Amino acid sequence: MFVDIHTHLDNQSVIKIVDGDEVRILRTEGIHPWELDRHFECSEAKSRNLLRLRGVDFSTSVEMTRLFAIGEVGLDKVHKETFDKQVEVFEEMIRLSESYRKPMIIHCVRAYSEIIEMRKKTKATMPWVIHGFNSSVETMRQLLRYDMYISLGEVLYRNENQAVEILKDVPFDRLFLETDVSGRDIKDVYNKAANLMGCEVEFLCKQIFENYGRLEAAH
Ligand SMILES: [Zn+2]
Repeated sequence: MFVDIHTHLDNQSVIKIVDGDEVRILRTEGIHPWELDRHFECSEAKSRNLLRLRGVDFSTSVEMTRLFAIGEVGLDKVHKETFDKQVEVFEEMIRLSESYRKPMIIHCVRAYSEIIEMRKKTKATMPWVIHGFNSSVETMRQLLRYDMYISLGEVLYRNENQAVEILKDVPFDRLFLETDVSGRDIKDVYNKAANLMGCEVEFLCKQIFENYGRLEAAH
């Protein structure tokens, strides 16, 4: 069983679970930092409306039950001009995540300390998965201190040395793997990580599926 904690399918951010020939798709929905412009008006009603347009129904609990996680959402400092808006919208996303009990899949570029600040400030308790993590071991340790999960993808291929450092240090019960927009096969990503760690793929499968089970149990 392979869990791809963050990938894209038909313009939708999803979680994929591959079990032999069977593929299960879990839906995630949220407002991505790249979608914002300076004039984006943020309020709980507006954020809900935007998600409603995408088919998330807040009036019945059925649709929210179908939604596995809020994502991808987050903060991106490459887009400095909208950063204040991003913080406001992210805070709304946290509110949704907490009130509907949905884990969050987080996009973070050069804003790890802000993400940690937001977790402290909102006292959020739902699981947060930092997808596409590619920062230092020290940053990772800080995120772990606040109970977050780390998901690795392209860093395994693009920066092996850093990936090895991260994999040496990350507790197995905090790790996820992903393909994001790479077009890779999630099995290859598991193989690559197992190679770098010097462990069996089966071990990773078992451990990461347990981690996924914890996200599910948080609902
Ligand atoms: Zn993505």
